[in-house]
Amino acid sequence: MVIRIGRTLPPAASPFHFMDIISGIAGFFEGGAIVKRFEDELKSFFEVRYCFAVSSGKAAFVLILQALHEIYPERDEILIPAYTCYSVPSAIVRAGFRVRLCDMAPGTLDFDFDRIEEELENPRLLCVIPTHLFGMTADVERIKTLINRRDIFVLEDAAQAMGGGWDGRKIGTLGDVGLFSMGRGKVFSAVEGGIILTDSAQIGRILEKRLAAIKGYGSIGCLKLFLQAVALLVLINPKIYWLPKSLPFLKLGETHFNPSFPIKRLSSFQAGMAKKWKSAITKLKAARSANANKIAGYGIKLPGVCRGTIPDLIRFPVLVADTETKKKILQKSERMGLGISDGYPDSIDGINELWDLSGGNTFPVAKDIAGRMVTLPVHPFVNDNDVRDIVHLFQERSYVEK
Ligand SMILES: *Cc1c(COP(=O)(O)O)cnc(C)c1O
Repeated sequence: MVIRIGRTLPPAASPFHFMDIISGIAGFFEGGAIVKRFEDELKSFFEVRYCFAVSSGKAAFVLILQALHEIYPERDEILIPAYTCYSVPSAIVRAGFRVRLCDMAPGTLDFDFDRIEEELENPRLLCVIPTHLFGMTADVERIKTLINRRDIFVLEDAAQAMGGGWDGRKIGTLGDVGLFSMGRGKVFSAVEGGIILTDSAQIGRILEKRLAAIKGYGSIGCLKLFLQAVALLVLINPKIYWLPKSLPFLKLGETHFNPSFPIKRLSSFQAGMAKKWKSAITKLKAARSANANKIAGYGIKLPGVCRGTIPDLIRFPVLVADTETKKKILQKSERMGLGISDGYPDSIDGINELWDLSGGNTFPVAKDIAGRMVTLPVHPFVNDNDVRDIVHLFQERSYVEK
């Protein structure tokens, strides 16, 4: 590991202000009403009948999957992309269901739709999880068409795409039920948090009942969130970030499979921090989009751009020529503090704890993506010099895939 002292970009960031923490404290003293108000604002913005705010995207996943299972109890398998965030299989295992994988279409971060049809024949399949990875829009409509009246739900994983749009519609509302994350590296952060959206009365009522039985954070939990918020506010700054990054016990940027995590309702502290979510998301999106467009302007290509425009990204994914190139780029970025990072360490079938899951199937495209994917930072701390330095690294090497 390289220890670097000096300006260092984090791979992703959704910075907030000191005033947001103050607003969190005010929210804490206001209590439950502020959480309700936050949920009501989300409902009206996303034009859905039900919205529930919880402790994380993973918690949202577990609650949704259990609710869907209540509707079709004979179905207990969940189909996800073979290349996605490790939180997804973690939540599926936590909820007590079985992970099924579908490979990706070459050159994209979306399902291979030729392969997915076969999976949809599975009588135990409960739901399919199209995922807007890094903000790259997944084709939810196409999955809905392929499902065609079967008793299979579409759960839209918009953990990385809160506030994004698609064809004039709002991401997160394209499936039967959708979720956002308000974790650290996501579109918008309240330290941690998850949001469930659905317009289905059937799903919504079950979730309402289940949510009523779930506890909040309590005062100690809120105090912890407050301390985390203060730490985050200071440490995420590129001037300071080299420090937490050099402390191995913080395990920054590491991705693990871990099915044990708390499931709570969002706290009033977090709802207070999220009070200005709409304007905050607008500003964060504008800053990221400007950086993403600059990077693209230098000729760096996204894997499978939708309709020629660049979607709202939280990281700019790039497929480089081979694993060797990837290693070199990551090493160089590490030395220069450029915040270029790995996507996820492996395809989902490569997670040891899930060794029995593929049934002998292989997922060569997902494996290949894991070997060649790097992501470039686009967050508001990234300035024009950083963009030039980042792009320069790619121009030095012939990074483009063959
Ligand atoms: C982050 C993430 C999740 C989980 O959200 P948390 O709030 O971190 O639990 C789920 N899916 C994807 C694609 C994610 O990026």
